Amino acid sequence: MPAAVAFTVGVVISLALGRLFYIEESKAVELEFKADIDQLSDSIEREVLLNLEILYALKSAVGIMPEMTRARFETLTRNVLDRSPAIQAFAWAPVLEQEQLSEFSRKQGEAFRNFTVREAGSDGLVPVRQRALYVPVQFIEPLSDNRAALGFDLASEGSRFEALDRAKATGEMVATAGIRLVQEPENQQGFLVFAPLYRVKSGATAAEDDFEVHHFGFINGVFRVGELVEQAVGSELGSDLLLEVIDRTGGDEKLLFRSGDPTSESWQHDNRYRAGEFEIAGRQWTVEAVPSARLIREKRGMLPVFVASSGIVLVCVVVGYFLAGARRNLALTDAKAQLEQISLTDALTGLANRRHFDTVLEREVRRAGRDGTRLSLIMIDIDFFKEYNDEYGHPAGDACLKEVASILRDMAKRPGDLVARYGGEEFAIILPDTADPGVIAESCRKGVLERAMPHELSSVAEYVTISLGLTTTGVATEVTPEGLVDRADSALYEAKESGRNRVCVG
Ligand code: GH3
Ligand code: MG
Ligand code: MG
Repeated sequence: MPAAVAFTVGVVISLALGRLFYIEESKAVELEFKADIDQLSDSIEREVLLNLEILYALKSAVGIMPEMTRARFETLTRNVLDRSPAIQAFAWAPVLEQEQLSEFSRKQGEAFRNFTVREAGSDGLVPVRQRALYVPVQFIEPLSDNRAALGFDLASEGSRFEALDRAKATGEMVATAGIRLVQEPENQQGFLVFAPLYRVKSGATAAEDDFEVHHFGFINGVFRVGELVEQAVGSELGSDLLLEVIDRTGGDEKLLFRSGDPTSESWQHDNRYRAGEFEIAGRQWTVEAVPSARLIREKRGMLPVFVASSGIVLVCVVVGYFLAGARRNLALTDAKAQLEQISLTDALTGLANRRHFDTVLEREVRRAGRDGTRLSLIMIDIDFFKEYNDEYGHPAGDACLKEVASILRDMAKRPGDLVARYGGEEFAIILPDTADPGVIAESCRKGVLERAMPHELSSVAEYVTISLGLTTTGVATEVTPEGLVDRADSALYEAKESGRNRVCVG
C-alpha cells in the first residue's frame, strides 16, 4: 500500500515536472518563432523597398531626358529588368485628353500594328469608352512578355486610377492594392507603383523663378509579390511555413501572397503570428505566418520527456528497492519462524525444547510399554523465581535459568536421558529404564543449591533452590504421556506445598 502511494505520488510529480518544462519550452519556442517571423517580415520589407528604389532611379533618369522613344525606353530599362526577376515590367504612360486620343493611336499604330487604346471588358480587353482623361501604356518593357498590356488604359480600372490619381496629387510614388496582372498567365498577384512625371516649362517672362511644372504622365513598375517574397526569404520557405503577405490599407485586408495551401492538415494554426506593419509606397503591409507541426516539433528539445521519464525511472528504482527490502525482511521473518518451528532446542538454555520433549516422551512411553521397562520423569521448578526476577532483573533471571539448565544437563548423561526446558522456569528430565531416579533427582537439587546463586528474597534458603516431582511407571503398567506428566506435576506440587527445595515422589 505505502509503496503504491509513493509510486503514484512520484509518477504524478514527475509528470507534473515534465509538463512544467513542456509549458516553459512552448513559450520559448513561440518567442523564437515570432522573432524568426519578425526577421522575415523585415527582409521582405527591405526587398520590396529595394525594388522600389529601382523605379525611383528610373524616374530620375527619365527626368533629364528629352522626348521619350521606344528605343530609349528599352535601353534605359533592359539591364535593370534582366537583373530583377521580381519586376514584371516597366511602363511609360502619358496622360491624354479626349481629343489627343486618336492622334496618339495613329502615331502608335506606326510602330505597333493594330494598336488601340483598350480597357478591361466583361470578356477580355475592349476599346476604351469615352472619358475625359486616358493614361494608356505607350511603352512597356520587356515588350514580348507584356504585349497584352500595351495600349491598356491605366485610368480605366478603379484600383489603378485611384493610385495614379494620388501619385499625381502628392508627387510621390504610390502603389496599387494587389491586382491580378493583365499580362500574367498564372494567378500571380502583383502590384503597380506609379511615379508621376513632370516637365518644367519656361514661363512667358524670362524671369528665373517664373516656370511652370507640368505633369504629363507616369512611369510605373509592375512587381510580382511572389517573386519578391522568394527573393527576400530564399530557401527558408517550404512545407514548414505558411507565409502570407497582406495589404491592410484602410482597414480591410487583402491577401497579396500566400506560400502554400492553408487547408493542409500540417499547419499549427494556434501558433499563427502577425508581424508588425510596414509601409510600401503609401500602403500598409503586414506579414503573417503559421508554422507546421513539424517545425514546432523540431524546435522542441527532449528535456521535458527526459525530466518526466527520468523522474519515473527514479521513482521505480527507489520504490523497487524498498519493496525488495520489505520482501526480504518478510522472507527472513518467515524463515526464522519456520526454523523455530522445526527446531528441537530451546534458544536460551540450549536444552531440548517442549516440542522435542513431547516427541521423546511419547516415544519413550511407547518403548517402555513395548519392552516392559521402567520410565521415570522428573518435573522441576525453580523456587520463588518471580522474586528472583524482581530482585535481580530479567537478564539475571535468564542467566540463572541457563545456570540451572547446565547443572541439570550434567546430572542426566546417559544416552537415553533427555533434559528439557518444559516452559518458563520449569524443566523436565526423562529417564528411561533408570534404576535410581531418586538419586538423580536428589543430586539435581543438591547441585543447584551448592552452586550457591544468591537469592535474597527466597524464604527457604539464601541461594537459588529447586523443587522436584518424580514419578516412575511400574513395570507392565499402561500409561499415557499425559498421565505421566500429571503424576510428576502432582509430586512437584507436593514438594512446593511441603516446603520447597526438595524431591517428592508420586
Ligand atoms: P514458586 O516458588 O511457587 O515456583 O514461585 P515462582 O515465583 O517461581 O513461580 P511463578 O510461577 O509465580 O513465577 C515464575 C516466574 O518465572 C515468572 C516469570 O517472570 C519467570 N520466568 C518465566 N520464564 C522466564 C524466562 O525465560 N526468563 C526469566 N528471567 N524469567 C522467566
Ligand atoms: Mg513455575
Ligand atoms: Mg517457580
